Amino acid sequence: MNSHIDEKISPIFQEIIKRNPGEVEFHQAVREVLESLGPVLVKYPEFAHRKIIERVCEPERQIIFRVPWTDDQNNVQINRGFRVEFNSALGPYKGGLRFHPSVYLGIIKFLGFEQIFKNALTGLPIGGGKGGSDFDPKGKSENEIMRFCQSFMTELYRHLGEHTDVPAGDIGVGGREIGYMFGQYKRITNRYEAGVITGKGLDWGGSLLRKEATGYGSVFFVQEMLKTKNDDISGKVCVVSGSGNVSIYTMEKIYELGGTVVACSDSNGYVYDKKGIDLATVKQLKEVERRRIKDYLQYHESARYFERGNIWEVPCQIAFPSATQNEINGKDAALLVKNGCIAIGEGANMPTTPEGVQIFLDSKILYGPAKAANAGGVATSTLEMMQNAMRDSWTFDYTQDKLSKIMKDIHDLCYKKAEEFGSPGNYLKGANIAGFIRVSKAMLAMGVI
Ligand code: NAP
Repeated sequence: MNSHIDEKISPIFQEIIKRNPGEVEFHQAVREVLESLGPVLVKYPEFAHRKIIERVCEPERQIIFRVPWTDDQNNVQINRGFRVEFNSALGPYKGGLRFHPSVYLGIIKFLGFEQIFKNALTGLPIGGGKGGSDFDPKGKSENEIMRFCQSFMTELYRHLGEHTDVPAGDIGVGGREIGYMFGQYKRITNRYEAGVITGKGLDWGGSLLRKEATGYGSVFFVQEMLKTKNDDISGKVCVVSGSGNVSIYTMEKIYELGGTVVACSDSNGYVYDKKGIDLATVKQLKEVERRRIKDYLQYHESARYFERGNIWEVPCQIAFPSATQNEINGKDAALLVKNGCIAIGEGANMPTTPEGVQIFLDSKILYGPAKAANAGGVATSTLEMMQNAMRDSWTFDYTQDKLSKIMKDIHDLCYKKAEEFGSPGNYLKGANIAGFIRVSKAMLAMGVI
């Protein structure tokens, strides 16, 4: 059965496409949510009456700015910075910053839009936003990264605040970049406002488990889905795309729970190691030395590297797309299912094209959509904000217990909402509906603003 937009909602979607020309990723993210909402408007006609859909699709504020900086050869470089403050019905805008050459307004808006519903699913008091720049951190020196981050924050700081807008990391933004940005914020404002950014270092306001949270959370979510079939991760062969923050800690938790990862990747190609990817090597290459994944072969001669290869050709029982948007297309999804894949945990945001999603749904495998499966990162960012507000720091195990409970609750909520609205087993519908209802009720209560 193909998904479609309810006829009452279709004109709203057409208007959104018209008002946001060329922003194809944003259109894709909006369409995916709107396709779930037909039955919601039947149960809650007041949402239509107060034009909640039209309002939730229009960002509250969009900021675009120049980021000038000087490279090591003393050339002036200019990048573009973005912050889309999408929705603050549930709390301060919360969402990461992405530094990647592909960044433009349409990418930031798709990510910000997703973030609204993801954050709502956590049950925590956070609104949705996202930001970033078309700056490419690859090949830049330490000093160039620092100068860029400082220039970026010199404009962004005026829009932030622990009660207003709280960024974090995303692709190309990890602990190092968060450090430079927080330093510049502190310098400009003369305030040690730890709760203004998350993903901080452990010695200066960060939270144990934040680094691991998105990856761990996505494995917890898959584990919960498997439980509904009396199954678990132990003994399962997995493929995890990417080799960045989300990917590394997805692999770590899979190993802890008794699974094996046979392939991971970066944007140049993928590595296949039938003995199981050695995580210590990947961490050394990526977290410490910032090298390419193909160098894995220098330490594990029996592994194989496929330059520009398609990682989804590797047969697996569970796939964790954890690199970037639209990395699984319809053909890849069909191949995964044909090769015996029984579950998908989306660590990356919108990693599957609409054709791919439809194939997963039609085949009735366990499909854990991004806004539910990768919500552990933002949830733990919120735990970091709580610790900052309390001037406290929690232990790893205590924080992990909280994360695992949050992921279980998100799973159960999506499961129940899917059933309640007539699509049992469809976690995508469950996630969209549950997130949308929570945000909409808050928007309704606060009037037309
Ligand atoms: P990261 O540490 O920068 O790692 C990204 C990984 O994906 C790298 O291995 C990178 O390879 C690969 N990649 C990036 N763009 C690619 C492209 N266009 N084609 C192929 N591979 C590509 O970023 P991350 O924080 O792990 O984020 C990964 C995904 O998870 C993103 O979709 C992000 O939005 C999502 N996410 C992250 C968090 C979080 O807490 N960090 C939370 C929720 C969702 P190269 O090094 O070769 O570029």
